[in-house]
Amino acid sequence: MGKLTNRTALVTGGSRGIGAAIAKRLAREGANVAITYNTSAEKAEAVAAEISQYGVKGLAIQADSADPQAVISAVHRTAAALGGLHILVNNAGIGLYKELKDLTLEEFDLITAVNVRAVFAASKAALDHLGKGGRIIHIGSCQAEHMPTPGGTLYAMSKTAITGLTKGMARDLGPLGITVNNVQPGPIDTDMNPANGPHADYERSIMALPEFGTGEDIAALVAYLAGPESAYMTGASLTIDGGTNI
Ligand code: NDP
Repeated sequence: MGKLTNRTALVTGGSRGIGAAIAKRLAREGANVAITYNTSAEKAEAVAAEISQYGVKGLAIQADSADPQAVISAVHRTAAALGGLHILVNNAGIGLYKELKDLTLEEFDLITAVNVRAVFAASKAALDHLGKGGRIIHIGSCQAEHMPTPGGTLYAMSKTAITGLTKGMARDLGPLGITVNNVQPGPIDTDMNPANGPHADYERSIMALPEFGTGEDIAALVAYLAGPESAYMTGASLTIDGGTNI
């Protein structure tokens, strides 16, 4: 029996990258897992199929995080289809790097909608289902704390908002026995930030461990936060960045 047996998780943005690794890891720990995606239907269905191979239920739901109603529906659909909801992982996010003079109000609205409002909407909807022992885990970024290059105004803003959400939500939900924590990755080799991308050498140059991490590195910390051993941890922002920010 895994440490998440009889638990159900929803991982937003689980079709690729860090979210897919988290979804598979939680399934290997025994949880039924639903994922959302925006456009990658085929990849999302493949992740759901792999989840099913671990002897648990997998479900892929199309839900654009820019649309709060879609996110809210995905939360309720997960609970209805997979038997309640115990773990919410707010992972879906977009990167947007441009200098301030080139940024638009539309871009401000988009990154706020996907990286922040969707987290608020999903977390609020999850309260209809989460009980004592419930877990909400946000995927923030180490750039909430340190922005080493130009162009990160909106991304850093959105991930710093997650730090604030984590603290406030932890205070509100502590009395209900629900913990809220924020995992802040550094460079992780995904489509968003490939280890062979144009900025990769610079990113490696400022790391204490000069290699990109993997989705599995992040999934291991999320699995700990999703499980019973993390019961006393809440409101924390945990940076896992290969020593980028030190
Ligand atoms: P990827 O771009 O590789 O994957 C993004 C995932 O989120 C995909 O599953 C994608 O779905 C989904 N997604 C994106 N936009 C939406 C949307 N509007 N609605 C629903 N789903 C959406 O990103 P990563 O795996 O690298 O990043 C995951 C999280 O980790 C993000 O929050 C990111 O900010 C954070 N992060 C990543 C770092 C890195 O170095 N990679 C570093 C620090 C933080 P689809 O396939 O359908 O597009």
